[in-house]
Formats: sequence, structure tokens, C-alpha cells
Amino acid sequence: MNREEVLIILNNNNLLPESKFGQNFLCDENIISDIISCSGIKAGDRVLEIGPGLGALTRPLSSMEIDLTVVEIDKRIVSYLEDLDLDAKIISSDYLKLKDYGAGCFDIAISNIPYYVTTPIIKKLIEDLSSCRRMTFMVEDDALQRIMAQPKTKQYGPLAVIMNAFGSIRKEFTVPGNSFYPAPNTLSSVITLERSGNNVIDPSFTDFVTLCFNQRRKKLLNNLSTYGKETVLAAIEKTGLSADCRAEELSFDLFLKLYNDIINS
Ligand code: SAM
Repeated sequence: MNREEVLIILNNNNLLPESKFGQNFLCDENIISDIISCSGIKAGDRVLEIGPGLGALTRPLSSMEIDLTVVEIDKRIVSYLEDLDLDAKIISSDYLKLKDYGAGCFDIAISNIPYYVTTPIIKKLIEDLSSCRRMTFMVEDDALQRIMAQPKTKQYGPLAVIMNAFGSIRKEFTVPGNSFYPAPNTLSSVITLERSGNNVIDPSFTDFVTLCFNQRRKKLLNNLSTYGKETVLAAIEKTGLSADCRAEELSFDLFLKLYNDIINS
């Protein structure tokens, strides 16, 4: 799908991109096919796409002999897609409202993620689809910085830790603003998450990590006070960190150790 086609579709269907839904539609054929190659989707895969929009990824995916499900929040777009008669199951919903959706039912997740809900969408995909083989996402620059952030940096937070819990993260390539209509102000990037054999996804672990970063300036001990001061202090000591430490100092492995110590105490 190129820019001219996007403009024609919008015009013919009386659609205006809704910024409240993060609608920046891909309009660069090369980028679209590169994203699909990075996803490694092959015939027979069960694939979940969040936010199909005008179908930039959905159309080529639907001709790949896969079992494709898409979830779209915007009802105007859902009716446009339904009329295309694509080989895909279309779910008209806010993905974030689909409780425990799709566990064990998908091999691959793919999304040009609406930027306003990047963290909740990634967190939910990782929690609900923990056995999925791979996830390929388009994210904006700011999210990329948070995803790739290392401990003891300003950007390091729950997103980086939770993604590590799923497996390895790879940045594939950068995408300029003019590959979208309308063009966002920042660069975007395509990333792939490859599941590791022994990933440790458990919604209570991801909630625990979020709680650790609840108030960044606070000591870890205070953010985790609901678990009891003695228990948390003993677990922090076992990690080798000081009792005054903050969440941003912990690597993924230390979060996991801390979590296991606290819940098993
Ligand atoms: N995949 C298309 C593309 O690459 O051109 C559209 C990508 S656009 C950045 C994000 C899409 O996600 C839009 O179609 C938007 O309506 C949809 N969307 C936004 N929030 C959503 C949500 N919570 N659940 C499902 N879809 C959502």
C-alpha cells in the first residue's frame, strides 16, 4: 500500500485518521514487506495482528495461507475491512478489553502499535501469549529507548524488564516518518522479540515489576511495602544490593530472583 492508495481509501470511505486511536497508516511497500519478512511468518502459522487499520500488513498477510486474526478498535475501520472480504477473522474491540485473550492460540503476534498504548499492548501480549514464538512490532523512538534501556539509566523501567522476561529483543531497522500517513514527528523502529525456551511470564511477575517502579524516586523497600518490610529486606539482601536500592538498579535476573524469594518466603 502506497501513500496515494491510503489517501484514496480514506477519501472514498469518508475516513479521517483519528489521532486518539494512534492512526498513522503505513504507506511504504518496501517497509511493509520488510516487516513481514522480519516476523518470519510461514504457512500454517496462527497469527494475531493488533490494529490492522487500512490493512497495510493485513492484506499481504491474508494471502499467506495462515490463520489470521485481527483486532481493531475503530468501528469505521472494521466495517471497511469487513467489506474487503479478506481471509482473516476480524474482531471489533479494544484489544486491551479482551481479558486473557488467545492463550496458546497464536504462534506469532504482529503490530504497528498505536503509540498511545504501546506499554499496555506489549505487556498484555506478553502476558496472554507467553507461548507465542515471536512478536514483531513497530514502535516509536521514545518506546524503543525504553525497550532497549539498560539498568541505571533514566529510560529503564517496567517495559524493558517485562520484554526481557519473554525472550531476546532485536532492533530490525529504523522507519522514517514519511513512511506513514499522517507522518508522526518521530522516527519509528521495527523490533522482534524471540521467545526463549524457559521464559518466565506470569502476570503476577509483570505486576510485581510494575509495582517496583511505581514511584521511581522511592526506595524499592518502600514500593514493595505491601509484601512486609522484613520479607522484602531479607530478599533484597540476598540479591547483594543495599537496603536503600531503587528499582532502576536491578537487572532482569535480579528482579526474577527478588520476586521468587518474596513469593516463596
Ligand atoms: N496496521 C496499520 C498500518 O500499519 O498501517 C495501522 C497502524 S495504526 C499505527 C494503529 C491501529 O491500531 C489503528 O488502526 C487504530 O485504530 C488501532 N488501535 C488503536 N488502539 C487500539 C486498541 N486499543 N485495540 C485495537 N486496535 C487499536
